[in-house]
Amino acid sequence: MTTSQPVVIVGAGPSGTAAAAQLGKFGIKSIIIDEAPKIGGVIYRGPFRDSDDLPHLDDNLKRAMSALRTRFSAQKQHIELLTQTRVLGPEGQNKLLLNKLNSLSNLAYQDLILATGCHERSVPFPGWQLPGVMLLGGVQLQIKSGLVKPGTRMALVGTGPLLPLVACQLHKAGVDVVGVYEASQFHKLAKEAIALLNKPKLTLSGLSMMAYLEKHDIPFYYGWGIVDAVGDETLQQISVAPYNECWQADVQNAKTIDVDAIGVGYGFVARSQLAMLLGAQHQYSHVSGYVPILDNWLKSSLENTYIVGDANGLLGADAAICEGQIAAIRIAQKRNKITPKKAAQLAGKVHRKLARIKRFRYGFDRFSARQFGLLELPKDDTVVCRCEQATRSQIDKAIEQGAKDITTLKMRTRIGMGDCQGKTCASYAIDRLQQAGFTHNIGTIQPRFPLDPIPFTLLEDNHETV
Ligand SMILES: Cc1cc2nc3c(=O)[nH]c(=O)nc-3n(C[C@H](O)[C@H](O)[C@H](O)COP(=O)(O)OP(=O)(O)OC[C@H]3O[C@@H](n4cnc5c(N)ncnc54)[C@H](O)[C@@H]3O)c2cc1C
Repeated sequence: MTTSQPVVIVGAGPSGTAAAAQLGKFGIKSIIIDEAPKIGGVIYRGPFRDSDDLPHLDDNLKRAMSALRTRFSAQKQHIELLTQTRVLGPEGQNKLLLNKLNSLSNLAYQDLILATGCHERSVPFPGWQLPGVMLLGGVQLQIKSGLVKPGTRMALVGTGPLLPLVACQLHKAGVDVVGVYEASQFHKLAKEAIALLNKPKLTLSGLSMMAYLEKHDIPFYYGWGIVDAVGDETLQQISVAPYNECWQADVQNAKTIDVDAIGVGYGFVARSQLAMLLGAQHQYSHVSGYVPILDNWLKSSLENTYIVGDANGLLGADAAICEGQIAAIRIAQKRNKITPKKAAQLAGKVHRKLARIKRFRYGFDRFSARQFGLLELPKDDTVVCRCEQATRSQIDKAIEQGAKDITTLKMRTRIGMGDCQGKTCASYAIDRLQQAGFTHNIGTIQPRFPLDPIPFTLLEDNHETV
């Protein structure tokens, strides 16, 4: 195939940027679209103001941020960057509808790379909607992008490597971190020692973070987690308790802590709404939610559509870069820029790197595997679906009355029918159905077009083709 049409990439995180840079090396033009004002995605976004320094972020992160920008700059002449532009969904055959700063337009594509990343998994518990209760990424975004301290006296609860990382970043930013509560047990981490050795530098960096916490008297508890959060108008206190192997809280031994903010991090979910709207086939994964079915070149079930990075499952930034490169190599081969032999050779090298990262990452996934005890945290009247105010007891009742899949649950309780399209409540609902014994054909909350509401004013005389 010979075409000079730019490859359209949705997402300027590590995977989308790496894809564009790799395409540039083959002389292929691309257009990257991102709703954010800068490249970098959620991890390497950095402060919104260029002049700001990042004294509280570690050197590895700063190096990685600058490597991404260098890679991008080296191929800048081949890349058109559309920031502050949101893709709202498909419009007709091989066209996307964009909203750039409240102006709608279409963008046609021949080859499409979806690099839309992930969003955080919400875990409802009593008080989870109080101001001051934040997801870990939101906490990070404040200190990375806005350079705002999310609180003065904070605790972190959840699971996985982000907990010690964020604890160190908060402490360096001047926050009093009073405790870090990892839901999983230490012996489960020790069992993964061999898997973690696949990325010795990352493992060492994890150990140095733990040493930092110890040096600064920040207690780190394994096998502990959140029970509830209380406060009048904002957060004042949380209760944490020991968790058993199934992550059921031992409330008899709970303790209360005075805090004005907490970070909650029980994992991430692939941001697959756009891929689903386009019609790509997906399957359910316990770790990452609904993920697309892909071939070895990361091509989806749709012609000329590749899905890379966290959008196809949670593997982290280094893997996201590898995946962006693999998709780009395949497109270069299909556009006759390189031979199939060269493509296989180039991709083989990247695949080997990716395999090492996966072995490392799967170790952490086993350690942090979410347990159903978390589903018992909400009380009867705790809201699970924020948009439609559906409570735990409404979900329980619907299941008791025979709901066996997401669609029925949605019809009975309205979960997933609000503006966020199930981003917040779908994980809880799926886990709850699985806990009740329904593991097959439970379906999902189908995303609706447009992904974001469009103001009526935008629909009048305000629709051009790019
Ligand atoms: C809040 C948060 C914080 C994280 N912090 C860390 C961390 O500190 N350390 C770590 O190792 N990992 C972290 N992760 C995971 C890490 O971000 C990813 O592993 C990595 O960035 C994946 O890169 P990616 O390119 O696949 O996606 P991302 O970096 O997520 O990039 C996706 C991009 O797509 C854009 N996008 C998505 N949908 C649309 C749309 N419809 N229209 C326009 N633009 C769109 C987003 O704005 C985003 O910039 C974090 C994840 C999240 C969600």
